[in-house]
Amino acid sequence: MKSTAGNTALTRESEPDIGQHACSVTFDVFPHLAGFPELQHAVFTRKGGNSTAPFDSLNVSFGVGDESDAVARNRELLKVCFGNAKLVYCRQVHGDRVVRVPSAAGPTGDGRPTVGDALITDAPGTVLVIQVADCQAVLLYDPVNRAVANIHSGWRGSAVDIIGRTVAAMSRHFGTNPQDLHAAIGPSLGPCCAEFVNYRTEIPRQYWSYRGAGDRFDFWSLSCDQMRAAGIPTQRIQTDGRCTRCRTDRFFSYRAAKTTGRFAVAIGLRRNGSGRRHRPVASAHAGRRSRQPGRGS
Ligand SMILES: [Zn+2]
Repeated sequence: MKSTAGNTALTRESEPDIGQHACSVTFDVFPHLAGFPELQHAVFTRKGGNSTAPFDSLNVSFGVGDESDAVARNRELLKVCFGNAKLVYCRQVHGDRVVRVPSAAGPTGDGRPTVGDALITDAPGTVLVIQVADCQAVLLYDPVNRAVANIHSGWRGSAVDIIGRTVAAMSRHFGTNPQDLHAAIGPSLGPCCAEFVNYRTEIPRQYWSYRGAGDRFDFWSLSCDQMRAAGIPTQRIQTDGRCTRCRTDRFFSYRAAKTTGRFAVAIGLRRNGSGRRHRPVASAHAGRRSRQPGRGS
């Protein structure tokens, strides 16, 4: 069932403000998530980092051919942005594995990241990071049980409904009621550029209804529908709405450049997340601009 994407209400152009603070890099926030003081999140861009072309400059992936020193320094910048919280990355493989952090299975003792494509946690001070360049990073927040998720969903993730699997995992581990969830889809390949000429062999038939002119697919709408199917109310879903391939000035795009970096989308609960727990509310939070990840100004 095809329908339109959610609201496009991301706070824009926060960049001039950020340099005044401890964090020197720029990022955007989703207004409805920024309304929760116990939560911090950020949509980083490709700008403000240490990497040189073609990874210029805030590449956070060790797996794309960039210099390790530069990537490590870039990740350190993100860590500073989150008040030196613990940042957790995973080795994304376009699969369907949901990893609870911290988990008994990892991160491994040798420092290698756990393999998975969705991270969930209810641990304050732990920030979940997804690395993307066209794929969607999908953020989920359960304000009742205070739990977050960060999902890597490219077209392969869409095909296996990793969004639905992550919602189910949150229900299992944290008692999440999907109706309480707030969701956000980060900058990613838009319906303007998501051409899949081999869709007959790559995309399951059940998703062919999202195909538009020129074999271009609307994965934003697909993800919104998967969220709704999982029980998340429509009014709590926000889509960034910026296409990474169209906006290589601001984001990395694999389709545009092939050899390129990955930008970061991150979410976590503050270490000092005191205060009352939120009761479910009917309406989305009002938009506001933030200077630190997810904090209202
Ligand atoms: Zn585009």
